[in-house]
Amino acid sequence: MLSAVASSSRHSSLVSFASQRSFATQAICNPRVSANKERLIILGSGWGGYQLAAKVDRKKYDVTVISPTGYFTFTPLLASTSVGTLEFRTALEPVRRLKDCKFSLARAQSIDLKAQTVTLLSAVPNPTDGNFSTSPPPRAVGAPPPNDSSTLPKPVPKEETFTMAYDKLVISVGAFSATFGTEGVYEHAHFLKDVRDARAIRKRILDCFERASQPFVKEKEKRDLLSFRVVGGGPTGVEFAGELCDLLSTDMKRIYPDLAQLATINLYDVAPGILLSFEESLRDYAMKQFAREGVSIHPNSRVLKVGDGWMDIEGEGKLPFGLLVWSTGLQPNPLIDSITGVSKDPRSRSLHTDSSLHLLDKEGQPFPNVFAIGDNSIVKDGPRLPATAQVATQKALTLANNLNNLVNNKPEKPFEFESAGSMVYLGNWRAMIDRSGPDVKGIKGKDAGASAWFLWRSAYWGMTMSWRNRFLLSVYWGINLLTGRDISRF
Ligand code: FAD
Repeated sequence: MLSAVASSSRHSSLVSFASQRSFATQAICNPRVSANKERLIILGSGWGGYQLAAKVDRKKYDVTVISPTGYFTFTPLLASTSVGTLEFRTALEPVRRLKDCKFSLARAQSIDLKAQTVTLLSAVPNPTDGNFSTSPPPRAVGAPPPNDSSTLPKPVPKEETFTMAYDKLVISVGAFSATFGTEGVYEHAHFLKDVRDARAIRKRILDCFERASQPFVKEKEKRDLLSFRVVGGGPTGVEFAGELCDLLSTDMKRIYPDLAQLATINLYDVAPGILLSFEESLRDYAMKQFAREGVSIHPNSRVLKVGDGWMDIEGEGKLPFGLLVWSTGLQPNPLIDSITGVSKDPRSRSLHTDSSLHLLDKEGQPFPNVFAIGDNSIVKDGPRLPATAQVATQKALTLANNLNNLVNNKPEKPFEFESAGSMVYLGNWRAMIDRSGPDVKGIKGKDAGASAWFLWRSAYWGMTMSWRNRFLLSVYWGINLLTGRDISRF
């Protein structure tokens, strides 16, 4: 409530300051177009940013979303897309499809909280500077092997930056995958954060099988190539292991019958178990389910180093892999690290906000016109919530309502989290739902098995943002059931 009062009293002076600046400064590329429509800049098009942009009243605000990805990613479906259970497009919503919402394909490099500006680095390569395509140029059949332009060093793209001014700013740039400083992870492991990661994983799995099927490849190399390892026993690592198991035991078994029996899945975690946020009987269920499916679980395993096709585990030595998927939590986005003069959580280095999601300065005072939501922030004096889509979504909805009300001078409402519980897919049409936690609102309970799998799929079908993707999901789930997964390698 305090912040609401602060916000409305300082509101008008900030607006006029910002609009004077924008007209006076040549370098600012978004002058205010209407005296009574504030420029709302949203950094990020993920669960927080995209949903805020969709729900905020775009008649009341001049909304611009800025993100290096031109789409929203429905992350719970990424594991399914990485093994061909679903097509990549089913997990994506283009930001430009939002009506009356501007978009800039760019990465925020820095924020000047005093001048109310954001410096952005363009994320659009120039199609004519030789950096446009990642594949070599097409050659005529019979042309000589590529000692041509595809092997020449490509020109380094020019850094193209520009500045935008805001009247209100929302920071929702998410977080990066944590490696805990483990050497070689960036170079040799795959993350699963974005649809491009899912695509790279799918290609790598298929590359491993294709390479293993070459006649000159020896048995030992085949086994190494078909060793699939996952580091991280949280929901993402577990779901990926479950989906991979489905792929190996169905489509790969049918297409590469001799090779599929050599394939192994091993899941490692430094903790004494997996899915530690789930209730104990559900964790036991997951262990038994994985044992039945042939997924080996290795708790208390610390990865020391990762190399090209191997990882070194403390006490075990070097283990070969064809694919290593790394999912061990989060570390701050570099943009968040670059913001100074604000209050941050000492443990996660996330931004602190007050309960109305205003960014806090070092003294704990709210910035009236700057907000932070999603994985990059936590409420300073609130309960410690997990970095999930649920939390990001509810913060986005609270903030959208508050921003819509602010225009009519209505007070802001504090953010209050209502947990819907946790779900995880385990493979072989089995899932688990845990609604037993103290923060779960409504009916409490837990479920595991095929009925939980049905609820898991129904929930994500319902949460999907567009009817177009709901339709596609139904089609792909149906087609794959009848004809198998898409295993095109591209
Ligand atoms: P994100 O969704 O990560 O979005 C960040 C956005 O910021 C992206 O658009 C990115 O391109 C953009 N960005 C990054 N840097 C910049 C920059 N410098 N300038 C501008 N834009 C930038 N949660 C659940 O509740 N349930 C689940 O089932 C679940 N499953 C998951 C499965 C996977 C594989 C993963 C990876 C996560 C899952 N999560 C789940 C967690 C959930 O996805 C995150 O908590 C959620 O994405 C956080 O939303 P966000 O908006 O903070 O960040």
